[in-house]
This record gives sequence, structure tokens and C-alpha cells, in this order.
Amino acid sequence: MNTSLLVINSGSSSVKFAVYDAALDAGLTRIANGMIEGIGAQPRLRVWGPDGAALEDRRIRVSANPVHGPEEAFEQLFDWLGQHANGRTLGAVGHRVVHGGEAFTRPVRVTPAILAQLEGLSALAPLHQPHNLSAIRAIDVVLPGLPQVACFDTEFHTTQPWVAQAFALPRHITQAGVKRYGFHGLSYEYIASALPPHLGAAANGRVVVAHLGNGASMCALRERKSVATTMGFTALDGLMMGSRCGSLDPGVVLHLMSGLGMTVQAVEKLLYEQSGLLGVSRVSGDMRTVQASDTPDAQQAVELYVYRIAQELGSLAASLGGLDALVFTAGIGENSAMIRQRVCQDAGWLGVVLDEDANEAPASGARCISQPGSRVAVWVMPTNEELMIARHTQAVLQGQVMHNWREG
Ligand code: ADP
Repeated sequence: MNTSLLVINSGSSSVKFAVYDAALDAGLTRIANGMIEGIGAQPRLRVWGPDGAALEDRRIRVSANPVHGPEEAFEQLFDWLGQHANGRTLGAVGHRVVHGGEAFTRPVRVTPAILAQLEGLSALAPLHQPHNLSAIRAIDVVLPGLPQVACFDTEFHTTQPWVAQAFALPRHITQAGVKRYGFHGLSYEYIASALPPHLGAAANGRVVVAHLGNGASMCALRERKSVATTMGFTALDGLMMGSRCGSLDPGVVLHLMSGLGMTVQAVEKLLYEQSGLLGVSRVSGDMRTVQASDTPDAQQAVELYVYRIAQELGSLAASLGGLDALVFTAGIGENSAMIRQRVCQDAGWLGVVLDEDANEAPASGARCISQPGSRVAVWVMPTNEELMIARHTQAVLQGQVMHNWREG
């Protein structure tokens, strides 16, 4: 009997999922993907087939005395999966878990003890970790005993040299785990696996990947391994994001608390939820809306967004000792020709020469957008974190070690 794998990426009010056929001899084939929206309010289940056709769109009825947690939503998702199993058995669920801390450097099958350890890291990723873990708990209630595998966004960066990971803090603080971990590792790992057929020999050279989504970061790759990245101890560091501030003088935090009397909770809310594109534009944290707005604040938000990317690109190129390729991915990286054009313009000093027509052309899939004579090849590549999680989950189930999976 064939097995299927469910991949879960759980956020504050929505759960994105993908279902893969995991036939032993045929690799992983995505058979559906979808989302549960409105958890805690009016949940809705939406599912699409591999060709993008809608397979399901329905309200999830919650009980008269609802838990308002994700359990009821997951029950309905498993019902739907059961009805559309086509003879496949659900073998496991793979989860994106944002922070693995020092202890988790490869995907693991979750046990109650591991779950407790991961809960200890929630304060370091307050926007993500609690929701990632609540999905694991909820599924354990609905289908106890079903194997669940945690795949970490921090794992891919464990190859970095110590200078890229250390803060210049006293040793005992570093030894307590206060260092740069880096995030979006599942996205970078997927892109690293997809580079060779497109970039040829340059794939193993000096590559910077810009993952520009709601959260945003950049990663320097050499030999397709992470050597530096813009996010640090938490996913707050580095680039300006939808609602997160990115790099900040730590003295600002001291001033907010001791000078302005803000509480820890208020500072956390300010830096994670009220800053970035949202805070600067005063319009929205969504790039499409900010781009479409003609207010001076919105235009400055875009200007600052691009400036920070260009600055960090210079820093990552310094870590690599040069640059052979630049890859744009995630919602903004894949879809905003304007942001790509402005970043490439600022990166002219590195040898980037954009092909404006290729950049503007409506296209999907991996594509080169630099001119043939450009010293730095510039690419747009769709990321696929779900597939990476499915690969890891399958490997954990099969007892294989799959560290920094790098085959195409
Ligand atoms: P997440 O980090 O939640 O997975 P995505 O990778 O989907 O986010 O990226 C979401 C971001 O991508 C939003 O800011 C959205 O406005 C932006 N985006 C999506 N399509 C476009 C587009 N055509 N032009 C500009 N920005 C876009």
C-alpha cells in the first residue's frame, strides 16, 4: 500500500499544508496543498490539486463549546485526507519548526520530551514557535501515535564558521547559547539543492540567496553550504521585513525600556508586529499594498527596504570574498520586478548587470534575469520549503541521516 506524507507549516491564524505521495520507488509527488484559515474564529478549509484546481473550500464547523484551538480544524483536515486517500495510508506529518536552538541540528521524530525542549525556545521565536508546536500537540490529540517529524529553519546554518555565528559578548553568554542561528534554512536548503541544473559550475561558487517574503533574510552559500546569513539569535535581525524591524542598534532597546518606560511585552510587539514596512509606510506590511501606494511614507519604506538589502548584500559578498550569483526567492523575490530591479541597480558595483526585459517578463519557474555579460548571474527561483520538509520526514522515517540535503 502506498504511503502519503502531510507537511504542516503552522502560523498564528492559519495552517498551510501539502500532501505528498511517498511511493518508495517514485520519490515524492505533491498530490494536494491547502490551508486552514481563521483558526480560533471561523476556520475554513481550502485545498488545491497539483494543477492548481480548487478541490475543496468549506467552512469548518466548530462545536457549540469550541476549543477554539486547532484540534477541530485538524480533525476536519484528516477527515478530508481520509476521504481522498485513494488507497494511501498517512505515514507521518512533517512540521516546519522555526527554532531548533543548540540542541537540534537535524530533523527529529517528536517525543513528549523533545516537545518540552522545543517549548523552551518559544520566547526566541514568539511569532512562529508557539504555533508550530501547538500544531504538533493538536495532531497528537487527534491521531495519537502518528509519527511527527520536526524540521528546523536553523539547521541549514550549522555549517557556518564560528565568526559568522558569534556575537562579541562575554564567553559565558555565548556558551549559554546566545549566538547567531539564522533562519529560513528550509528555503535555502531547497534552493541549494535546485542550483546545479541552472547555474552549472557557479552553483558551487559564491552565491547569495535573498529570501524576501513576509519574513525576509539573505544567505551566503559556498559549495552550497551556508557561510553567513542576515538573521541571528532570533528572526528579528537583518533585513527590514513586513512588520519586523530587522537590525537595530541594541541601545535602542535599552532606550525604549529605560528611557521611555516600555515593558518587555510592548517592546516585543513594537519590534515584531509594528515595525518594518508597516511601521515605516504607515500603510501596510504587505509589499503589494506598499508598492501600490503613492504616499511619501510608502515610497520611503520601499527605499529603505531596498537599501537594507543592498547593504546586506555587500556584507555577505565580503563574507564570500566576492559574488558569482544572486538568487531572488519567496513572495517578494519571486514576484516584485521593481524590488529586484532596484536591488540590482544598487549592486552594480559588484558586477551585476540586469536584463530589464527578462526581469519584467511575466514568467514563473526558475529563470535567469541578468545580461549574458554580467559578472554576477542573477536568477529568480521559486522556493519549496514543503518539499524539503517532506524529504526530511521521509528520511527520518526510513532511518536515514540527511544532513544538508544537496542532491537535485
Ligand atoms: P510568507 O513569508 O508568509 O511565506 P510570502 O513568501 O508568500 O510570505 O511573501 C509574502 C509577500 O510577498 C507579501 O509582502 C506580498 O505582498 C509579497 N508579494 C506577493 N506577490 C507580489 C507581487 N506581485 N508584487 C509585490 N509583492 C508581492
